[in-house]
Amino acid sequence: MTTFNDFGLHADINRALAAKDYTVPTPIQVQAIPPLMKGRDLCGIAQTGTGKTAGFSLPSIHHLLTYPHRPTPRGCRMLVLAPTRELAAQIAQSCRDYGRFTKLSVSTVFGGVPINKQIRDLSGGVDILVATPGRLLDLIDQRALRLDDVEIFVLDEADQMMDMGFIHSLRRIAKLLPSRRQNLFFSATMPKEIAHLAEQFLEDPVTVSVTPAATTVEKISQYSTFVEQKEKQALLHAIVASEDIDRALIFTRTKHGADRVVRHLAGAGIKAMAIHGNKSQSQRTHALQAFRSGDIKLLVATDIAARGIDVSGVSHVINFEIPNVPEQYVHRIGRTARAGAEGKAISFIAPDERPYMRDIERVTRSKAEPMPLPENFNEMVRNLPKPVQPPRDTGSKGRDPNRQRQDAHRGRGGAKPQGERGPRRDGAAGEGAEGQRKRRFRPRNKSVGAHKGAVKRVG
Ligand code: AMP
Repeated sequence: MTTFNDFGLHADINRALAAKDYTVPTPIQVQAIPPLMKGRDLCGIAQTGTGKTAGFSLPSIHHLLTYPHRPTPRGCRMLVLAPTRELAAQIAQSCRDYGRFTKLSVSTVFGGVPINKQIRDLSGGVDILVATPGRLLDLIDQRALRLDDVEIFVLDEADQMMDMGFIHSLRRIAKLLPSRRQNLFFSATMPKEIAHLAEQFLEDPVTVSVTPAATTVEKISQYSTFVEQKEKQALLHAIVASEDIDRALIFTRTKHGADRVVRHLAGAGIKAMAIHGNKSQSQRTHALQAFRSGDIKLLVATDIAARGIDVSGVSHVINFEIPNVPEQYVHRIGRTARAGAEGKAISFIAPDERPYMRDIERVTRSKAEPMPLPENFNEMVRNLPKPVQPPRDTGSKGRDPNRQRQDAHRGRGGAKPQGERGPRRDGAAGEGAEGQRKRRFRPRNKSVGAHKGAVKRVG
C-alpha cells in the first residue's frame, strides 16, 4: 500500500501530514502526486471530498520549498482559482495546514469583503494565492496584482465555474499567465465544453479520475418518499422530529425556497439557517460556523452554496427538492458519509419530480428505498405551524439571477455571478459599499425556474 513517505515530499510537509494524522493517501492523491512532483500538467476528474485539495497542494508546496525564492511584489508563485468564497477559504486553510511548518505565505481574495485589505496583503507578494475569478480581475485592474510570475496554476471545480458564467473571466486570466508554468485542472464532471476549456489551459496533461459516485452512494442509506410539493414542509417537520439527526443538510432548488423552509421551521420553534448566494458573506460565514459548531443542526442550502463545503458529522441529507441533474444528487448526498461514517439521504419526491429521480437512479445505479409517509400525516399537514414573517432586511440583495448570469456572460463588469460580489469595475457601487448603501428592490423577472440555469450542467 502506498504511504505518504513514498512520495518523497519535503520533510516539513510530512511533519504537517503527521500532525493532521494523515497516514494513507486517498486514490486521487496516489494518482496525482507522483506526476505533479515531476512537474507534469494534470487534468483531474474528482469532486470535493476525495482529498483532491491535498492532491494538488502537497506537490505544489513541495515545489515552492524545493525552489525557494521570494515572491515578487504584487505577484504570487502559485495561483488557485475556485468558484466560491467558501471553497476558496477552505483551500487556503488546507494550504496553511499543510504548510504550517514552513514560512510560505497564503492569501485568499474573494468578493463580498472590502478590497483594500486584500490590496495591502498582496503588496509584498505572496507564495500561494487562492482567489475567485471576479475579485482576482478587479485586483489586476487596480494594479494590485500581476500574474506574470505564476509558477503553478490550479483551476478547481471547473464545471461549476462554467455553470456560474465565469468563462470570460477565465479566458482573460489565461492570457495574463506566463507561458512557462505548471497547470492543474480539476472538475467533478467532464462534458465536452469542460474538456475544451481544459485543453486551453493544459499542456500534455496526465489525466486522473476518481469516481466517488458509486463508492459514496454505497455507503449512504437512501430513502425516498412520494409527497405533494405543498406538503413537503410537514414531512420535513415529521422527519426532524423522528430521526436521530446530528447534522442535516436540507437542499432546496431556489434561494427563496431555502428561506421559506427556514421560516417555516422557525414557526415550529425549530432552529435552522439558510446558506445561498443571496446571503451576505458574513451571514454565510455565520451560518456555516453555527452548523460546524453544532449550534444549529439544520442547514438549508442551495446546490451552488453548498458545493465544496466540507463539514464532517453530517448524518442526514434531505432533498427537499430533487435536482434535475443527476450529478447534483451525488454531490448533495456526498455531504454525508464522509470519512467512512454512515449517512442517510432522504428525498422528497413530488409528482413532477419523479422523472428526475428515475434519471438519478439510472446514473447512480442505485435505488432509494421507499419510505412511507408518517401515519397521521394528513393531520400534520393541517396543523403545520405558520411560518415566521420574513424580516424587513433579509440580507437578500433582490437581484435577478438571470440578469447576473447574462452580465457575466457578456463579460461586463456589472453584477457578478453568485459567489462573486466584488465591486463593479464600471465604477458603480458594488458589494464593498453594501453596508453603506441601501439597494433599490428590483422585482424578479420570472424567478420561478431561474435557478435551474444556475445548476444546469453545460453540455
Ligand atoms: P478535499 O476533497 O480536498 O476537500 O478533502 C476532503 C477531506 O478529506 C478534507 O477534510 C481533508 O482534510 C481530508 N483528507 C484529505 N486527504 C486525506 C488523507 N490522506 N487522509 C485523511 N483525510 C484526508
